[in-house]
Amino acid sequence: MKISDLPGPITASKADWLAGTTWLGFTPTNGSLQSRSQCQGTIQRQYAGGYVIEYITEQFSEPNPGFETDPQYLAEREAHKELAGRFIAVHKLRTSARPLETILGPEEFTRLQDMWAQGEKRWRWSVAFPIVETYDITDRPKAKDVLGKTGYRRLFQRSSATLGVLNEEERAALADLEIEQRPAANAWIGIEDEFVLAEASEIDDRIRRAIERDLSDGALEGIEVERRVKVRKRAAWLAQEFVKRRRREKTLHCDACEFDPSTVSGIEGINPRSLLDVHHMHPLDEGARYTTIKDFAMLCPTCHRVEHARIKVAAKG
Ligand SMILES: [Zn+2]
Ligand SMILES: [Zn+2]
Repeated sequence: MKISDLPGPITASKADWLAGTTWLGFTPTNGSLQSRSQCQGTIQRQYAGGYVIEYITEQFSEPNPGFETDPQYLAEREAHKELAGRFIAVHKLRTSARPLETILGPEEFTRLQDMWAQGEKRWRWSVAFPIVETYDITDRPKAKDVLGKTGYRRLFQRSSATLGVLNEEERAALADLEIEQRPAANAWIGIEDEFVLAEASEIDDRIRRAIERDLSDGALEGIEVERRVKVRKRAAWLAQEFVKRRRREKTLHCDACEFDPSTVSGIEGINPRSLLDVHHMHPLDEGARYTTIKDFAMLCPTCHRVEHARIKVAAKG
């Protein structure tokens, strides 16, 4: 697939000298809570719910004294040579950051700070956004080649503690890059945050039943049994958000055959929603990636039955 096939736009770029694996970290001006939340707010405004493209800088940093021959450092420096100056990945970040320590665990966090912290300032990258969806850029092109001199200079000439917000022209330059999705280990962090929201919401019975049917035990096979309950609950909550949006947008029609209840005469006063079903299109992706309301469809009862017949046949296949 191409970048232009992503369900949302690339809004910002992140320059790194280490490739981000499961999180992207940002360094607040100091260790205070206020500084942390300021940093989080800035980054959130910059990527504005879109995707972030990751660029690897030409330079590689020197670690703190004592780590110059550390095998992990040497391996990373070696890996950097191949990536320097290139676009390597596209990430979707969780809406809210977490303290990096809670993602890495205290031991790994301490080691990271020992290696890279500047003196007493032991909060490097401490505002970390978990990567919940991630794509490799197949050709890893040089950023200079893709953006041209002007765009490259604008975004990457000076080092920045935040993101670079892309303009229209830069977005267009990226649109044709080939990408390939890879499993995001932190999809679960994003999902877990939403379990809490789902637990606290009143879910419509009809939606709950539809989603329970879509997310059968067969569909959720690789997932621990206790977790399936949560996965279903979150999916039902997402489905409800999906229905709400369709209602707001006044697009209550079948996504397969375009049946629109509001055009049928003689049923005035009947809620159009009562003649339509909500359906989860990618049950097997639950737990494998961060699903969103884009994974649901609105179907008329006939198209819905056809869809389930199709799933049954495919499962036998
Ligand atoms: Zn239909
Ligand atoms: Zn269904």
